[in-house]
Amino acid sequence: MNYDVFYEFLNYQKLEKRLNNILNNKQNKFKVIKHDPIGYTSCNFPIEHFSIGHGSKHIIYFAGVHGNEIIGVDFVTTLMHNLALGKEDFKSFKESVYTIHFLPLINPEGFYTTTYALTSITDSFNNEELENFCYKYFLSYKNDDILIKNMNDLLKDICKRINILDHSEDIINNFWHYFRNYEIINKNNIINFFKLYEIDKEILENFLDELILKYFKSSLIKLSKEHQNIFKNITLDVIPQINENHQLLKEKLLDIYKNNDFPISTLANFYANSNGVNLNDNNLYYYEIFKNRLTKEKEIYAKGRENNILISIKSPLGMPNYDMHEPFTYEKENLALLNFFDSLKNNYYLSFNCHGTGGLLYTYPIYNKEFDNEPIALKYVNKINEIYKNILNEDITYNIMPKGKLITGMGDVLREKYPRAYLLELSKMGGNPIGPYGDLTNYKLTMIANMTSLMNIL
Ligand SMILES: [Zn+2]
Repeated sequence: MNYDVFYEFLNYQKLEKRLNNILNNKQNKFKVIKHDPIGYTSCNFPIEHFSIGHGSKHIIYFAGVHGNEIIGVDFVTTLMHNLALGKEDFKSFKESVYTIHFLPLINPEGFYTTTYALTSITDSFNNEELENFCYKYFLSYKNDDILIKNMNDLLKDICKRINILDHSEDIINNFWHYFRNYEIINKNNIINFFKLYEIDKEILENFLDELILKYFKSSLIKLSKEHQNIFKNITLDVIPQINENHQLLKEKLLDIYKNNDFPISTLANFYANSNGVNLNDNNLYYYEIFKNRLTKEKEIYAKGRENNILISIKSPLGMPNYDMHEPFTYEKENLALLNFFDSLKNNYYLSFNCHGTGGLLYTYPIYNKEFDNEPIALKYVNKINEIYKNILNEDITYNIMPKGKLITGMGDVLREKYPRAYLLELSKMGGNPIGPYGDLTNYKLTMIANMTSLMNIL
């Protein structure tokens, strides 16, 4: 299929360049309009707004809510480029029926932080080197997940043998906190840790060697996170001082990192905005959940592969509010987004909130049966699966997610009010920010399948 697909990380300059090229492309079949920004961030970066078409059915594509999910911004701009040119299926786009709005970057601060860090390393790479680098990251990301699972299983096994299985969850949390700055540990470290629970050395000596070997095939356990270590030599110097916005961004980042609470490598995987707020978590539902947790636990660390990163203070992963002791407030980025949705009134038709990895479309919770979220969602993912099957002869099962337990994200907040407010997890490959770039074939298919599927539902 003859779509244009780029293969690069978009830092500030590169994104500006890509957007200007799209806007001024003499070959465009459909006119691209640049509007006033829908708002500005706390560092005064504009949240840009473009549109194609002039019909009464309004569709919104937005991306980059999580600064580290770089493939979303890449996809929305690639879609803009190909739609404007009327490539392939876009030839039959009905510009008098639809208006498609593009908000390619909701969280400029998190995205520029991540992409400046990334491009400081990858700028000299050719495509093959870039693919290898990203694939290496993709694998280390997977390995880190396995390591954590094995360690947790080992701890549970220990708890079972000494009859304190009821406390295993607490013990696991404390373990990762206790050892967060350790690269490698051995049996003696574990024995010392269990002294905190008044467990005798002699009891553990009976079986610990054997257990460690069982889970790690070695007497040493490597705890450091490979997917973070890849970026351990990055510094805040990667943020160039282009203008006042950049200066402000750098100052605010310096403030977040000043006490060495976080590995500096997180600059390359920066979810939050410069206030240290996670824009997806920045909603009243999650604020309440998090506040309840904070009354029980003094410090909260992220789970899983980022379990060495504190999230109860402003952090690269981000909190639900700029200050958890203060009442809930939307960040400027979210206010701008909510106001923009409101401004469309009855002309709103559907929206895609483009995130990074998972390969699925969130349609839950369905508050209102009349919203009719499912049929279009099914049509969308079925087309994606058909394309993957045709090209790769692989069943990738891009799914819809109709059910969930908790309402926790900004995507859910939008879905409460608007029909067909889909959250699209783009890549089937894991590993934000750069895992999805670790296989060029898969990357291209992600782009092409999602572009084609749009035309399948219009
Ligand atoms: Zn996300």
